Amino acid sequence: MSKIVVLGAGESGAGAAVLAKVKGLDTFVSDASAIKDKYKQLLDKYHIEWEEGGHTEERVLGADEVVKSPGIPNDAPLILKLRAQGTPVISEIEFAGRYTDAKMICITGSNGKTTTTSLTYHIFKSAGLNVGLAGNIGRSLALQVATEQHDYYIIELSSFQLDNMYDFRANIAVLMNITPDHLDRYDHCMQNYVDAKFRITRNQTEDDAFVFWNDDPIIRRELARHGLKARLYPFAAVKEDGAIAYAEDGQMEIDIPPTFNMELEKLALHGTHNLYNSLAAGISAKLAGIRKESIRQALSDFEGVPHRLEYVATVRGVRFVNDSKATNVNSCWYALQSMTAPTVLILGGKDKGNDYREIEPLVRQKCTALVYLGLHNEKLHDFFDSLGLPVADVRSGMKEAVEAAYRLARKGDTVLLSPCCASFDLFKSYEDRGDQFKQYVREL
Ligand code: ADP
Repeated sequence: MSKIVVLGAGESGAGAAVLAKVKGLDTFVSDASAIKDKYKQLLDKYHIEWEEGGHTEERVLGADEVVKSPGIPNDAPLILKLRAQGTPVISEIEFAGRYTDAKMICITGSNGKTTTTSLTYHIFKSAGLNVGLAGNIGRSLALQVATEQHDYYIIELSSFQLDNMYDFRANIAVLMNITPDHLDRYDHCMQNYVDAKFRITRNQTEDDAFVFWNDDPIIRRELARHGLKARLYPFAAVKEDGAIAYAEDGQMEIDIPPTFNMELEKLALHGTHNLYNSLAAGISAKLAGIRKESIRQALSDFEGVPHRLEYVATVRGVRFVNDSKATNVNSCWYALQSMTAPTVLILGGKDKGNDYREIEPLVRQKCTALVYLGLHNEKLHDFFDSLGLPVADVRSGMKEAVEAAYRLARKGDTVLLSPCCASFDLFKSYEDRGDQFKQYVREL
């Protein structure tokens, strides 16, 4: 019997182990840290052997194949040993792909993955298709393949998941954009990260589709290099050479017969970045043959994803918007760009070497006041104080930040939490930061 070792027992590892077990493979799970109770219970339910708090190296090295969780770096000592002795190390998605004939719609990119994945899933689900949601979004593909039966999967893929994919084939591959990210995991070499992202097109045939942002200089350069077999579906913000989906005269259009169009105003998600996300999701839906009316309906009634430009409430004429997931300057740029009212911006946190020049013009144009929220706000003072806007400096936490923003706002203004920074100085995670924001807004 083939011996499978699964390294890491989070969502993807535990799911991979269940799939291996139900397929009759000799399965062992090893995690260097503590395994969460819910995954222990899942493993126990399927009588899968596991260990936590360290790896029994002999047992791991004795595997015929290893499924590695995306959180474990490719240069971890144990992974290097496995590679040196020629043991295949694959991702959970690669493993799951072997056991299903479902159509795979895979979404990657530096920004916009979760939104596009959720929106695409919403369209497919609303159209009545038998569809599963999986991947980086927090639901194991392998577990669904083991325990459910779907005709389609909408899968969010991080570059780390793509790294260990070899034979997996995406029927529709969507690449939103490529900007520098996670370079610490790619030997600080941008090309390594770009190559990981392009693995989404690996094994695609003439029957498959590659959907991508037409104006991304890196994607265009790579396309010229790769000569893909898949049919190409480029989208852009405006009608331009090559783009088959775009916005024109207040309409969103997709030129896949029968041509799809809908008023931009009716889209549930606003802002240029969300137009890209709607175009990409709309193309995938058209390619799956979903009717125009269904796509229109779903693009207009999508409720959005928490912490991404999420509307919270309007308190005495002041709108509050939670964009806590904006952990870098580029996402804040898109958030500000989508603002249609004078904006009080709450920003700050753990700075990852930010260059705020990117958002300076938009801050000048759209913001009426700034709230700095972080343990160390010196850099924000140095950069933004000279703009002459009213500023509140908050080091204590979200309650004070919300109250300060509310005081600074006038009727008709929007208070936007779009921090440009990681959350770990004052919060557990970006979710915790956004949840606290929503809580204190509701208490106003
Ligand atoms: P990811 O899953 O890739 O991190 P999300 O959908 O969670 O992306 O969005 C994260 C942030 O990136 C959002 O807060 C938003 O401001 C920004 N964003 C969303 N879609 C795009 C896009 N297509 N291009 C650029 N930025 C985007």
